[in-house]
Amino acid sequence: VAQFQIDHLGIAVRSLDAALHFYQQQLGFTVTNRETVEQEKVNVAMLPAGESRIELLEPTTHDSVIAKFIDKRGEGLHHVALKVPDLAATVDRLKSNGARLLNDPRPGAGGHIYVFVHPSSTGGVLLELIQQ
Ligand code: ZN
Repeated sequence: VAQFQIDHLGIAVRSLDAALHFYQQQLGFTVTNRETVEQEKVNVAMLPAGESRIELLEPTTHDSVIAKFIDKRGEGLHHVALKVPDLAATVDRLKSNGARLLNDPRPGAGGHIYVFVHPSSTGGVLLELIQQ
């Protein structure tokens, strides 16, 4: 039986500094990792929350996916990330069942291999699957 864990919740924000003012200064979260992911055109801050994390995503350019998301819907929950035991097998299974994947598995923030699954396949939420 596959074990799943919520790895993180991705939250799109206009300003990482403004968001950190809330999560870090006011709520008391610790930031373990801050980096720029060039291929996604985002600055990322990771805030551990128990076994899981909150991932704050700030666009670095106007044409970044996160910038477009914020333009359309405002700041907010952008995706839910699940850890799966065997990402390659999961991707094969999803593809053969017609799920709509947005990319082939590739390394992202922190070096984890991930794929995104379109909300039309998942019940309306953008789903990120990460190799455990
Ligand atoms: Zn993510």
